[in-house]
Formats: sequence, structure tokens, C-alpha cells
Amino acid sequence: MTALPSQPNGRNSKLVEVRNLVKYFPVRGGVLQQVVAHVQAVDDVSFEIIEGETLGLVGESGCGKTTVGRTMLRLEEPTSGQVLFSGVDTLSLKGDDLKRLRREMQIVFQDPFASLDPRLPIGESIAEGLIIHGAGNARERYAQVIEALGRVGLEVYHANRYPHEFSGGQRQRIGIARALVMSPRFIVLDEPVSALDVSIQAEVLNILKELQDSMGLTYLFVAHNLAVVEHISDRVAVMYLGKIVEVAGRADLFHNPLHPYTQALMSAIPMPDPTLKRDRVILKGDVPSPLNPPSGCRFHPRCPIAEERCSVEEPLLRELKPGHTVACHFADQFVMS
Ligand code: SF4
Repeated sequence: MTALPSQPNGRNSKLVEVRNLVKYFPVRGGVLQQVVAHVQAVDDVSFEIIEGETLGLVGESGCGKTTVGRTMLRLEEPTSGQVLFSGVDTLSLKGDDLKRLRREMQIVFQDPFASLDPRLPIGESIAEGLIIHGAGNARERYAQVIEALGRVGLEVYHANRYPHEFSGGQRQRIGIARALVMSPRFIVLDEPVSALDVSIQAEVLNILKELQDSMGLTYLFVAHNLAVVEHISDRVAVMYLGKIVEVAGRADLFHNPLHPYTQALMSAIPMPDPTLKRDRVILKGDVPSPLNPPSGCRFHPRCPIAEERCSVEEPLLRELKPGHTVACHFADQFVMS
């Protein structure tokens, strides 16, 4: 498991621990609709998130990163594994205990518009969670909604407007306000800026940073865009076909990626200076189906340095530098001091 570096804020206690998380989705077929196969969306994933930090979870679409976030919040029930929040096994909670946990662990979706009722003023949509949890009276809830709107840079009068009256960036602020109003400690940000223009992306990312600083929030930031992840994350975990293949501090990962898959992802990031060029690594083939993942290292059919061993022996995550783990038999050759 990755060693935990001390954070700039002096904290290094684990708020979230994911242990050996597995999520398979059954595929049914035939007249009797029997289970004929499983989509292995998440397969034996473990990581930790330190209180107050942002862990970026990055990978191509379909790699299982969104399923990890949803399973941690029990929007999907896991097939097996553990998710500890402040040391409590969240998967064993039921009833009121689970309800309390849901206040502390919130999610912001990629498309906030889809989760807002078009017939409700957004003030009412934001208050929905408070009502479900029986928090305060109407006046107190209204005050909390206004406070949450203010935190994301929206005005009091916005509470009475309807979703279609807002721009994409404003809608995402509403999505964030909806999570904030519950006073969470931990938020899964599921591709929160992917649908936004670049200039608006920066605005929303800055709001998220400010909120983290002022409220001590802990984030899991799920994204496919490495440049966005670099901007906001303290540490980054890279996923490929249901597995975590590399975890490192942001600077270390971007300076010295050790897994061939991470190296390929990095090589596709445009350089800010057009006179500089990276050697682009073009991966062969498409991502294999999670219905029938390759044996051994799941990356082996596309890996530019694969050897025979890779197709038979699954590489385990190994710590090759302090706080930098990688699942590759031959990654030692890439370690820079
Ligand atoms: Fe490539 Fe083999 Fe390393 Fe997998 S274990 S990333 S196939 S070299």
C-alpha cells in the first residue's frame, strides 16, 4: 500500500480507505434471463484518501473509475471489499446510520442538469437533501440553501430561478451547492468539469479549491482529463480496465510516470509551449472488454514493452519510490532519482 505523505496542512490521517473493492455487473441472457457473464468493472481496488486532500482518479472511459466513486457512496452495492470512512466500515451500515453517513459523503455529477428537477426552483432542489434528512425547519433550511449558494458565488435571487435559466457553469455550481448544503466531509467529484468550456472549467476548479481550503473538504476527483487532474490533485491514482495501475503524488507522477499506460496517457497531453514536443506513445488496439479481460497484466495486449511473463502473471502494486506504487513487472527501469 502507498505510504502516506504528510500534507501541507499538517494532516495525514486517513479519512477514506478502500480495501479490495470489487464490483461485477451480471449480464443476463437467454429466455430465462440467467446470468451468463459478468462485467468486471472494478476488480480488487485498494487506496486511501487523507483528510483534506484531493485524490485524482484517472483513466479512459469504461475503466471503472466512476463505478469506484459510486460504490464508495453505496449508490451501487459492491460485490465484495470494504470502504472505511473515519475507520467505520460503511458497507455494514443500515437505516439511520447509513443515512447519517450519506450526509457526510456527497457526490457531484458530470451533468448537474440531469439531476435537477426542471419544474423546481433550484433553491428547492438544493433543499431536497435537507428535507430527506429532516434537517431543521423551513426557515433554517432556506438559510442553509442561501449560504451554500453564496459559497459557490451565486446570489440569493438565484434560489427562485429554474434550471433552464442557468448556464452550464452555473448549473455545476448548483450541483456543488447541493452537495455542500449537507455539510459533508468528503465529496466524490465525478467528471465535474468535463462538459464545460475550458474557461469555465478553471472557474469551477478554483471554486472547488477554495471550498476545500475554507471547509477542510476531502475530494475524490474522477476524470479522464489528465491536465485537469494535475491542476487540482494532491495525489493521483491511474486506473486501467478495473485495476489501479499506479498511485503517486501529483508532481512525482507527472515528472516520472512509471507505468507504460500512464506514460502513454501523459504523452498525449498537449505542451503549453508549441515549440516543445513530447514523444507520443500510440497504444495499439482498443481497450479490451471488461467482460473478458486479458490474463496476467490486463494491459499486456497494448503494452509497448510487454514480455511473455506479462500474459501469465498479474503484476501487483509495488512501491518503487516513497509514496509511488506501480503494478508492472518491468517498471524499475523507469525510476528516476
Ligand atoms: Fe506492460 Fe508487462 Fe508492465 Fe503490464 S506488466 S505494464 S504488460 S511491461
